[in-house]
Parts: sequence; structure tokens; C-alpha cells
Amino acid sequence: MTDAHEATIIDGKAFAANVRAQVAAHVTALKADHGITPGLAVVLVGEDPASQVYVRSKGKQTVEAGMKSVEEKLPADTSQDDLLAVINRLNADDSIHGILVQLPLPDHLDSNLVINTIDPAKDVDGFHISNVGLLGTGQKSMVPCTPLGCLMLLRDHHGSLSGKNAVVLGRSNIVGKPMAQLLLNDSCTVTIAHSRTQNIETIVRAADIVVAAVGRSEMVPGSWIKPGATIIDVGINRIELKDGTKKLVGDVDYKDCLPVAGAITPVPGGVGPMTIACLLANTLTACCRANGIKEPEGLTA
Ligand code: NDP
Repeated sequence: MTDAHEATIIDGKAFAANVRAQVAAHVTALKADHGITPGLAVVLVGEDPASQVYVRSKGKQTVEAGMKSVEEKLPADTSQDDLLAVINRLNADDSIHGILVQLPLPDHLDSNLVINTIDPAKDVDGFHISNVGLLGTGQKSMVPCTPLGCLMLLRDHHGSLSGKNAVVLGRSNIVGKPMAQLLLNDSCTVTIAHSRTQNIETIVRAADIVVAAVGRSEMVPGSWIKPGATIIDVGINRIELKDGTKKLVGDVDYKDCLPVAGAITPVPGGVGPMTIACLLANTLTACCRANGIKEPEGLTA
């Protein structure tokens, strides 16, 4: 009888705690050596319960990392002009190095205009068109937090990603596209699959690295996975079990993939915790750049 193979479980929770500890250590040094405290402002429009939870968590972790945290909570009927005025005020505030507008915004607001009003140097979400263009041309930019977190986990597991076949499932502006760009910048051969992709199983089966960001619970079965491949599961899907209890699952069928994959991130405890850790890392990076201080290594793309 042979031992059943099981993939290495990539512990994003522990990795994220390590990133936060590194950020906190750099913040302590910035304060001691330069008298500078990095500041992050989060702008929340309306009262979406999920967004409120995220914003609270971001604020708490920002303070725990020794940074200044500002929350701008605006009513759901805030006008476009009033929101842009808040962003322009934060752009001009030297104590704020990172600005994040919590998405989605209410329908009457133009998200693209709002994001593109943020000073690109303070755009810690990396969604401003300038940062998208810089990333796309391989230049120093602010990198979207979730894909940056995935990249850190992949680099830590593999060392070099050069020459690997990577498939990104999903082409959203916040995860799929920047993820594909980052993998390309690290010299992977990248395929992006989406809802119109044909023969998706065959494409996934050729991949050494699979990043799943589709928002469909357990869509990827083990039979799609090349033996030994690394799976990064970005999906966060809340499902209801037969007994009525709720559970979080990813876009990948974790149990089914475990005996096939070489390594896999769990949900929860994989990519999820990396997103806020990378937000803190981006705020630190933005603060260093704004002050002409050498930015810490290993915390950017
Ligand atoms: P979007 O809904 O914006 O994008 C989903 C993408 O998946 C689209 O490009 C869509 O294709 C593609 N897609 C949908 N169905 C299929 C299918 N059957 N086969 C192949 N591709 C498909 O989602 P996001 O990118 O914002 O998020 C993706 C997932 O990641 C969600 O579960 C979300 O909750 C999670 N997430 C997790 C984060 C974290 O911190 N861990 C942060 C951000 C997101 P098309 O373009 O053709 O419609």
C-alpha cells in the first residue's frame, strides 16, 4: 500500500502575520529614525454591512502595525462632488500616505472617476490608471493588494516563478488582470481564462500554477489539476450546508484537489488574510517613497 499524497497547505494566515510583523518593525524604525508615522485613510460611503466589517478590520490592523488610521464615513447619498472633495483633502494631507476607497460605491457615484482622483502615489489599492499602466509596463507602481498577496505566497513557495505555466481564472480589474500581469512580470507563461473560455479544463490541466478568482464555489475539481501543481484560491463564497449552517468555501474544491496538487491555499486562512497585510505593506511603501526613504525589501512586487 502506498501513502496517499497530500498537497502542502500554504498557510496564508501565518504568512500574513509575518508580513504584518515586518511592517510593524519597519514602522517602529521609521518613527525612531525619521520621526515619521505612516498614515492610511479608508473612505467608506454608505452602510453596506460587509464593507463595514472590512473597514473596521483594516482600521484595527493599521493601528496594530503602529500606523495612523483615519476612517472617513460618508452617508450613502453623498454627492460625487462631496466625495471628490474628501479625496482631494486627503491627497493634500501630508500625514496620510495611503488612501483606499472601499468598493463597491453606491450606483450614483462614478467609481472610475473617484479612483482616478486619488493621488497615484497614495493609491494603496493600485487601481488608479497610472498604477495599472506602470504595472503593465513593468515599472515601479502600487500593486493591488490581493494579487500582491498571492504573488508573495507563490514566491515564498517556489522561489523563482520563471518559465512556469500559470493559469489565472478570472479577469476582473481587481484580481484577475493584475494577477496575470504580476505573473508575466515574474516570467511565467500566462493564460487568462474567463466565463467565455472554451476547453477550460484542458487549459487548467496544463498549468504549474493555478490562481482561481471567479467567485463560484468549488468550481475547480481535482480532475482539472496537473499532479503537483500549485493552487492559489482567491475565492470567498458563503454556502449553506444541508443542516442550515453557513460555511466559507473557495473557487476550488479543496478536498478533491488535496491529493492531486503539490501545494494549495485553504479557504479561509489562505489568500484572505494576505489582502490586509499587503494593504499595510503598500501604505508603508507609499510612505517611504513619499519621504525619499529606501523602501523595505520583500514587501512589494
Ligand atoms: P468578479 O466577479 O469581478 O470576476 C469574476 C471573474 O470570473 C470574471 O472575469 C468572470 O468572467 C470569471 N468567471 C465567472 N464564471 C466563470 C466560469 N464559470 N468560468 C471561468 N471564469 C468565470 O470577481 P473578483 O475578481 O472581484 O473576485 C473573485 C473572487 O475572489 C470572489 O469570490 C471574491 O469574493 C474573491 N475575492 C477575494 C479577495 C480576498 O481578499 N481573498 C479579494 C477580492 C476578491 P467574465 O469576465 O467573462 O464575466
